[in-house]
Amino acid sequence: MTSSTLLLYMEQQAVLEGEAAVLEVVPDFKDGMAAVVLGRTLFYPQGGGQPFDQGWIKGEAGRFQVEEVRFQGGIVHHLGRPAARPFQAGDAVTLQVDGERRRLHSRLHTAGHLIDEAVWNLGLGWQPAKGVHAPGQSAVEYRADAVPAPDAAALIEAELNRLIRHGFPTRTELVSREELPKRARFVPDNLPLDKPVRLVTVWDERGLPCGGTHVADIREVGPVIIRYVKARKNMVKVAYELEAGT
Ligand SMILES: [Zn+2]
Repeated sequence: MTSSTLLLYMEQQAVLEGEAAVLEVVPDFKDGMAAVVLGRTLFYPQGGGQPFDQGWIKGEAGRFQVEEVRFQGGIVHHLGRPAARPFQAGDAVTLQVDGERRRLHSRLHTAGHLIDEAVWNLGLGWQPAKGVHAPGQSAVEYRADAVPAPDAAALIEAELNRLIRHGFPTRTELVSREELPKRARFVPDNLPLDKPVRLVTVWDERGLPCGGTHVADIREVGPVIIRYVKARKNMVKVAYELEAGT
């Protein structure tokens, strides 16, 4: 059985190039795509509302374009359509993550956290529930008892952009599962059990558990537009996007 993939991006989220060894190649893993399993990876797999990275794995056997990255049972599967001769177990390869795609996802993902911070600072009393940080469909959802005020979107947008303009260097730290409730302001009940626990701080001293990728300083998010705030039953959805051309 293949052992767990070491998730390099957890501690080195700015590193987009590196080396790894091939552990296994599964010829027909999904939708006609092969899966390359490595001892360690820089590629972010789909999860936590953030889309997967894309990029390339290069070795003597050629270049493997990574079209999709999935995490299952501790193992990262890099999916793509290999050229004539796929990699073999033991091959040394170099990894190259598509930096433009990663950067966009990191900006959207960090913006999602900053909406949480804005909601908190405004004292709205909403509890974070879930989020999607993908281009064209980014939104965070909260549990809320009261119907949002008509100006909620404008207030959140103003506070959020105030934080971004101020700037803050983001921090990550691996912590134990036991330590988490003492260190995080909020611990979601759907925290994955097969990944290390990482505390992320994007503003102030309050941390939150998150395995996604973030910008180094929140200024890099750039201006964010709140598209709408919608209430449905006891949930509030805040949809957002990055200002065009930023
Ligand atoms: Zn995050």
